[in-house]
Amino acid sequence: MISRRRFLIIAGSATGAVLLGSSQLEKALASARSESSDPSKPLWGMIVDVDQCTECMNQLVAETGNPDPKPECALACDRENNVPEFREKKWDPQWFKMLKVRSNLEGSEYLWVPLLCNHCRHAPCAQVCPTKATFVREDGIIMIDYHRCIGCRYCMIACPYNARNFNFKEPLDGLTEINPETDRRGHGVVEKCHFCVHRVDRAVKEGVNPTPACVEACQKEAEKRGFEKSALIFGNINDPNSEIGKIIRTSKAKQLRPSLGTEPKVYYVNL
Ligand code: SF4
Ligand code: SF4
Repeated sequence: MISRRRFLIIAGSATGAVLLGSSQLEKALASARSESSDPSKPLWGMIVDVDQCTECMNQLVAETGNPDPKPECALACDRENNVPEFREKKWDPQWFKMLKVRSNLEGSEYLWVPLLCNHCRHAPCAQVCPTKATFVREDGIIMIDYHRCIGCRYCMIACPYNARNFNFKEPLDGLTEINPETDRRGHGVVEKCHFCVHRVDRAVKEGVNPTPACVEACQKEAEKRGFEKSALIFGNINDPNSEIGKIIRTSKAKQLRPSLGTEPKVYYVNL
């Protein structure tokens, strides 16, 4: 007799194999493009100012002597969302990671670039998920239902931003504290940033602007370091009068890998 979970894995493998077999990303995107959003409803997104992150990280490296320190924004994300930290880094899921990058141009300097789920408008991860564990909320947040996830990892292959993590180990073993407000999950499932969806929902209910934990930590860090503003800004990109809406429309805000057509809702400035 075949168990339900085993059946889902086999069924999922078959479906996923079909999807991934024929120019996987293009096919996924083609079907996703038919999705539309009502502009009168909120669509959450984020701005990342790479200059500001680079300044903050360079100061942190100088202060700690650690060439790859974990900044306050990433630590806040871990605490808020029960993201475990194990002794061996290779097991650590990272919802918010800092990459040190440099362009090929002669004389260019290193930049620190935060990488998180881009909450793509046309999300290939959601398209390839055989169990619909990955789904898109009306407000554009890409979610994972951990009870439906069978750990097939097709979404990880489909994500062009390397934003997803597989739990090889039991997350509880790598946690010192547990935030009861956030979903707990076991090993064998995929997880990633969800813009602190519990904070978003609470703020919407209270009629105030949502602030994910990383953004809150970044604001505090900016104040502490005497920066003019926070590097991370969160808000409704459908609202032309919101801070994020204005930046997207008036500045050189860029999306990562725009040619793929995924249309991320995380935008970068000074990149
Ligand atoms: S960044 Fe990756 S995980 Fe996030 S919505 Fe886009 S494809 Fe999915
Ligand atoms: S969320 Fe990813 S790993 Fe989980 S079932 Fe969907 S495609 Fe597979």
